[in-house]
Amino acid sequence: MAQYDYDLFTVGGGSGGVRASRFAGNFGAKVGIAEERYLGGTCVNVGCVPKKLFVYAGQFAEAFADARGFGWDVPSARFDWQTLLANKDREIARLNGIYDELLTRAGVDVYHGRAQLLDPHIISVNGQTYTAANILIATGGWPRLLNIPGIEHVITSNDVFYLDELPRRVLIMGGGYIGIEFAGIFCNLGVEVHQVYRKEMFLMGFDDDLRHALYEEMTSRGITIQGNTTVSKIELTHGREKAVTLSTGETIVVDEVLFAIGRVPQSGGMGLAEVGVVLDPLGAIRVNEHYQTNVPHIYAIGDVTNRKNLTPVATAEGMIVARRLFNDQDSPSQISYDNIPTAIFSQPPIGTVGLNEQEARNQYQNVVIYRTRFRAMKNTLSGRAERTLMKLVVDGDSDRVLGVHMLGPDAGEIIQGFAVALNAGATKAVFDSTIGVHPTSAEEFVTMRTPS
Ligand code: FAD
Repeated sequence: MAQYDYDLFTVGGGSGGVRASRFAGNFGAKVGIAEERYLGGTCVNVGCVPKKLFVYAGQFAEAFADARGFGWDVPSARFDWQTLLANKDREIARLNGIYDELLTRAGVDVYHGRAQLLDPHIISVNGQTYTAANILIATGGWPRLLNIPGIEHVITSNDVFYLDELPRRVLIMGGGYIGIEFAGIFCNLGVEVHQVYRKEMFLMGFDDDLRHALYEEMTSRGITIQGNTTVSKIELTHGREKAVTLSTGETIVVDEVLFAIGRVPQSGGMGLAEVGVVLDPLGAIRVNEHYQTNVPHIYAIGDVTNRKNLTPVATAEGMIVARRLFNDQDSPSQISYDNIPTAIFSQPPIGTVGLNEQEARNQYQNVVIYRTRFRAMKNTLSGRAERTLMKLVVDGDSDRVLGVHMLGPDAGEIIQGFAVALNAGATKAVFDSTIGVHPTSAEEFVTMRTPS
């Protein structure tokens, strides 16, 4: 049998790659990993983590405003962008260190550099070559841009965490969750926000009631939102100002233009096609139900396969690959892609799991909807007009709850538990027999009795 330097060599030290390598190392495999930018990948460096820290930063503005109704005399507060950036950088450096340490403690050799496949079993990093019995591609995705005049003046989610100063006005192009989240962050930080997107309504694939309710909440906060609109060109005016021409013919002048129109898999320029790995037309690596590419010892997980592009999905896939290869060949070959809960850290946030109403109606004959919209208790004294939306999608024939959806404070925290219930096959009768936690918003999920 051929002798290799490594049992597993992982390309990409993001969420999926680190998890797979660490587990493989702990199972006793000899593992190498190459990362060309930052350990922890997108999520830790330019994704979930800094994004959530920025969300927290913005929410203080709400808290200061709401406090008055509860008797607090809050002097006018001042926000310092540089302090936020410096503290965020420090936290991310700490996390980078933890990732490095976890890998090292698992006996994984970490190479800082861009990896390339020279042969189906040979990887090159920084001019050195290594052989591996198995190769895992976990190279993630990268923001997509459009080929329009002035595109060099826009920023993406990679840049937004490193802006020298907080813009006064921003235009966000894109109606996916990343654009929506940044609209909320900037708006809370006092920035004038314009958001445009190509489709009629943002957040395609999410429940329509949530989308419309979020639209109402965002516009009532002062965000200007235009669907059926794209950016045609961007011109620099007065130094750093950007004049953005929209497909409607309108021009809006802002300080920054954030493009958040989706992400493309990072699969180019690393020898994949040359060693025969099949990609789809978007560049996503095609894998089978064991995360194997068409070259059986080359695996791929996470965003580079462009399926459910979420950190917990990438890490769960990574764990499966490591376990099947080096621990228990008979363990499940796939994660379950049903009932993956997800949150959008919009203002207010969304939490959702299972089928939306339309998906349920496409698959089931007798769909029953329970819906409630109310002003959360905190808003009675704060005076905030924001309303929470909660919705259950139920199969009327089997009584199984197919979807749980929420727009309102803490939706992401609340939805996690309901994902467990859905995975356990909970029926509406189980929801009804569950005692609520009082007084909370979440208790509404177990007290909705009348279909709407
Ligand atoms: P990544 O984490 O992207 O890691 C890939 C790594 O591979 C990168 O570090 C890259 O530098 C490296 N690499 C690429 N090519 C090479 C090469 N040839 N050689 C060496 N290294 C290479 N997900 C959530 O679940 N919740 C959220 O709230 C959330 N928020 C997000 C917010 C933003 C702004 C963005 C952009 C993403 C967010 N995501 C969120 C998605 C999440 O970040 C990704 O799903 C996750 O990072 C995917 O992990 P991965 O391992 O597939 O890839």
